[in-house]
Amino acid sequence: MGEKINVKEIVTRRKKMLKKEVESLKNKGLVPKLAVILASDDEASKIYVGKKRKMCEELGVLQQEYILDESVTTDDVVNIVEKLNNDSTVNGILVQLPLFKHLDMDKILDSISYKKDVDGFHPLTLGKLFIGEHETFIPCTPKGIMTILDDINTEYEGKHAVIVGRSRIVGKPISQILLKRGATVTICHSKTQDISLYTKQADILVVAVGKPHIVTKDMVKKGAIVVDVGINRIDGKIIGDVDTENVLEVCSKITPVPGGVGITTVLSLLENVVQACKYQNKN
Ligand code: NAP
Repeated sequence: MGEKINVKEIVTRRKKMLKKEVESLKNKGLVPKLAVILASDDEASKIYVGKKRKMCEELGVLQQEYILDESVTTDDVVNIVEKLNNDSTVNGILVQLPLFKHLDMDKILDSISYKKDVDGFHPLTLGKLFIGEHETFIPCTPKGIMTILDDINTEYEGKHAVIVGRSRIVGKPISQILLKRGATVTICHSKTQDISLYTKQADILVVAVGKPHIVTKDMVKKGAIVVDVGINRIDGKIIGDVDTENVLEVCSKITPVPGGVGITTVLSLLENVVQACKYQNKN
């Protein structure tokens, strides 16, 4: 019988460490600051922005929000981003996705200075990640996944990591990070003929699809470590992409949903803001 990873405990411990870092920066006269742009009516996005605000408050990080209505244009958002790029008191800029449909996401994300790209979606940030350079920001969800895997002393070299999902924000970046760590990586997606053929071979299985319980017990190798990234709202309840209770019978460890990758994602954002503040004030 496997166990659910106590992600809350990991996050609590790392938050304490981060708070100390923020305090030591404050003693040097530096206060990390995050700017958040919300240009959407999406209810989930409003909740995520609220969670980020709460963690900033807890850790003593300053936060500035731009809540924009549907009349906003791509150029308006780009102008705000550019102002923030040039504001030396702002260390990190986050544009909450998804945006209003009429807005040009690529143009907006590309306008963020990669030095302030704490969400890690800028093409330059992703490009550096893909060629194996890690001195820029790691996108928050993959970074949060690695926080969990590292905390439980996961071995990567020689292991087979299978990623289900190939999105820009989760599947692709986590595959590159695991590849760099020495795992052999397989990526499955909607056109993969039979995902169970691959998931059954996984020592490390990361599922980021957005389909409730798409991964069942018979698809998991005995002793596997399973990371469930999915967030699905069913009848007012949040469930993951993995049938956790049954998969527990075969896996060694699994992240819970809720209270798993989601909470490390917010932590990662704050870690990136603190890292940005340090980079920008290096000398
Ligand atoms: P996404 O952009 O919609 O990508 C989903 C991926 O799943 C795509 O690559 C898609 O393949 C693949 N897929 C769809 N149906 C499939 C199937 N039947 N078999 C195999 N692969 C399939 O989603 P995302 O942004 O990566 O998010 C995935 C899930 O994670 C969602 O539930 C989201 O809410 C959640 N999420 C959670 C966090 C967190 O902090 N916990 C952060 C981000 C996302 P194609 O590329 O071929 O279409």
